[in-house]
Amino acid sequence: KAQKACMSSIPEPIKNPPLKSKIFINNEFVDSVSGKTFPSINPTTGEKFVDVAEGDLADVNKAVSAANEAFRLGSPWRRMDAADRGNLLNKLADLMERDRVVLASLETLDNGKPYNVSFSTDLELSIRCYRYYAGWADKNHGKTIPIRGDQFCYTRHEPVGVCGQIIPWNFPLLMQAWKFGPALAMGNVVVMKPAEQTPLTALHVASLAAEAGFPPGVVNVIPGYGPTAGAAIAQHMDVDKVAFTGSTEIGQLIPQMAAKSNLKRTTLELGGKSPNIVLADADMDDAIEKSHFGLFFNMGQCCCAGSRIFVEEKAYDEFVERSTERAKKRTVGDPFDSKNEQGPQIDEDQFGKIMDLIESGKKEGAKLCTGGSRYGDKGYFIQPTVFADVQDNMRIAKEEIFGPVMQIMKFKTIDEVIARGNNTEYGLAASIFTKNLDRAIYLSNSIRAGTVWVNCYDVFDAASPFGGYKMSGSGRELGEYGLDAYTEVKSVNIKISQKNS
Ligand code: NAD
Repeated sequence: KAQKACMSSIPEPIKNPPLKSKIFINNEFVDSVSGKTFPSINPTTGEKFVDVAEGDLADVNKAVSAANEAFRLGSPWRRMDAADRGNLLNKLADLMERDRVVLASLETLDNGKPYNVSFSTDLELSIRCYRYYAGWADKNHGKTIPIRGDQFCYTRHEPVGVCGQIIPWNFPLLMQAWKFGPALAMGNVVVMKPAEQTPLTALHVASLAAEAGFPPGVVNVIPGYGPTAGAAIAQHMDVDKVAFTGSTEIGQLIPQMAAKSNLKRTTLELGGKSPNIVLADADMDDAIEKSHFGLFFNMGQCCCAGSRIFVEEKAYDEFVERSTERAKKRTVGDPFDSKNEQGPQIDEDQFGKIMDLIESGKKEGAKLCTGGSRYGDKGYFIQPTVFADVQDNMRIAKEEIFGPVMQIMKFKTIDEVIARGNNTEYGLAASIFTKNLDRAIYLSNSIRAGTVWVNCYDVFDAASPFGGYKMSGSGRELGEYGLDAYTEVKSVNIKISQKNS
């Protein structure tokens, strides 16, 4: 009931939101140097709805120059009080509130996620993230340190400088917020490349940053492709740091490019194959619904999707049967129709990759309980799919699917499920469903993952850090920990005539 009341308070979407489709440098929208554009495709129909300026090396060079100019000593941005940087971030959040319907509509048009989710989740979490980091702007400060001798020693927390930020298409606004928020709070300047599939909301937010009053050159957004615009950022000699979110495959290239150029700092948030462990003593209604959500949320396009569900033997049959029933009820279709829980996958490539993995599951002998095919005949929709009796060595148990495909496996003992849960190159997230506190703590301490959810899934808060162990990445985003990636610590030692305690 509460959910219904909340849904009904969501304003109607705008079917044709205003589109900003040029490159954003120095607080202005400009064409690409080459004059080239690339099409943005609506995943619901598979049709192009706008051409977007295609940035590459030349545009990245322009943006990096603008950013460096904004970061020069004595510039308005460098002279600004830290508290005022926080005020600007809050102003940006206010403008996002004002344009919330436009942004949510744009996100749904470009990405295909249900409008209700764009409005109530993506916008809400993004706005909160900016406000959270606004609060940090004047609170991340250094120390005075009592070193030996007649010395005055203190640390300054300084911005890193020009931060390159390369983001994916699954949560365009939120990934932008996770990157802009801490970077701008700490006084950095940014050159962001949004994913080629979803550049539009990033460009709208850039225009809001200008409107909020961020000085020219502080925020720059270059739509374009990865191997051109993205690589130009990662390889640039005048970029001080690169933050990347996306596939583990490209995540392995970014530090190489960083190292071969100027050893710029890198933080990485990559793929996952997160174990979701359901013990037989769990509240089954709750475990089934949250496991469904943990996998199918955002069409399965979550780096932390609970895509290996280990269910204790005694509860296995019930879990498979009821999860299948739940998946069959999942409503799929036009993401602007509030009835639908699931929209299309992002593009043809992802659609093909997911269908290939579904076929591999069938061939390798997993039991297909429901779904397994395309949904409809237009756009990139896939039926909610559930595989049971999945074995650890099957491709669907090892590879990140990034689609609406659930894998259910059976286990007998706690030590067995820890070993199998950890038997992956990834380590982003995990979850445990049980009423037994001792087992919950033992399991959460034993799983090698950056986030563990107990009796819940996908609980995100700007104050709680997120990031990966192993090949799921390095560094942490969000929370106080997330400031580290955007802070250089300078130790200043001053000789004084006499120190007193
Ligand atoms: P990707 O890693 O290719 O793209 C992510 C971002 O990196 C995009 O902005 C892209 O343009 C950029 N990029 C690509 N090649 C680059 C290069 N050589 N240099 C610099 N930047 C580059 O991911 P994808 O192709 O969109 O998706 C492939 C798979 O990645 C998905 O199936 C999924 O498994 C995974 N993925 C993970 C996340 C995540 O949140 N961790 C997000 C999206 C995709």
